[in-house]
Order: sequence, then C-alpha cells, then structure tokens
Amino acid sequence: MIRLFVALELPDRVRDRLSGLCNGVPDVRWVEPANMHLTLRFIGEVEEPLLPEIDHALSNVRSSGFSLTLEGVDIFGDRRRARTLWAGVQGCESLKVLQGRIESALVWAGLDAEPRKLHPHVTLARLKGMKVDKLVSYLQANAAFRSEAFPLSEFVLYSSSLGRSGAVYAPEARYPLISA
Ligand code: ATP
Ligand code: MG
Repeated sequence: MIRLFVALELPDRVRDRLSGLCNGVPDVRWVEPANMHLTLRFIGEVEEPLLPEIDHALSNVRSSGFSLTLEGVDIFGDRRRARTLWAGVQGCESLKVLQGRIESALVWAGLDAEPRKLHPHVTLARLKGMKVDKLVSYLQANAAFRSEAFPLSEFVLYSSSLGRSGAVYAPEARYPLISA
C-alpha cells in the first residue's frame, strides 16, 4: 500500500514566514518548514498498482495558475481538545476550481468521492488534544498574520510514509497549472 495526498508546495519565502509562527505554545509538535504544504486532497492508502492511474488522471487536470495569500491562524478540534494549529488561506475561487477538478479526476480514476468539504489550511503544529484556553493568547497575537500573495504554477502528488518521528513526504509527480 502507498499513502498519497495531493497538495500545493509553498515557496521558501512563505515557509520562512510561517516558521515565524512556530513558537510561543509549549508542548506542541511544530511542523518543520520543509514539510509545510497545503493539502488539496487526502487520498490515503491505496494499492500500489493504482498509482499510475491516479497519476494519469491528475495529468489530465487543466487549470490555470493563480496567486494565493495565507492569512490568520486557527485550530481544528473542539474547545477542550484542539488537535491541529493551522494558518488559513484567503478565499480564492481558482483554488476551489482546481480542487474540484482534482476531485473529479480522482473519482474518474476510481477513488471514492471525498464527502467532506475541504478547509484549505497549512498545518503548523499538532497539539495532542490541548485546551483552547492555552492557545487564546497565541491566537490573538497572531490573528493579523498575512503572507505575501504568491504565484502557483503546479500541484504535486505526494506519498507519505508515517514514521516514528512524523510523516515523511516525497513528491511522486508534479502537474503544471496551465495559463489560460
Ligand atoms: P501524521 O499523521 O503523522 O500526523 P500527517 O498528517 O502530516 O502526519 P498524513 O496523515 O499522511 O501525514 O497526511 C498527509 C496530508 O494529508 C497532511 O497535510 C494531512 O493534514 C492531510 N490529511 C491527512 N488525513 C486527512 C484527512 N482525513 N482529511 C483531510 N486531510 C488529511
Ligand atoms: Mg495524519
């Protein structure tokens, strides 16, 4: 089996900015800047022979390049047990279009449709069920976070190997975003 997801790679400059958000909360597992990315579709474990079909389907996705801005910080989880601390993404129609096309391509390739609505984000830390009270001052201090707008010219199929010291991601294939 191989664990796959589709994501956008972030420019170094943006990851540098994000790494500036990775301090000020004790007892959390911060994401290494090199591992920061924006997931468009989590595929999960699939049989290895499906990989070429997934690759073929993704290579047929046509979408134009666009710019993205990251903004704000927030958590997933509930008030008593926050699980993930993340940076948000400014609303972007092109991102939704791309995500919809990737979803259609993957369903066409035989994967089950993703029933959940994607909430675009960049994971900054994993929290192991922390009380939100402990995060309030961090969230307030960083509420005004906003990255520069950065251009995207491709999306990436990654494999993910879950290891003891966290997941290791490897790009399996890159797909250009074609200017219209
Ligand atoms: P770990 O699971 O060890 O904490 P990870 O979550 O980074 O590491 P994966 O679980 O392989 O590694 O996930 C790869 C990417 O897909 C990450 O961006 C993760 O947030 C996202 N992801 C994982 N599971 C889901 C899911 N069920 N729905 C949406 N995105 C997911
Ligand atoms: Mg995970």
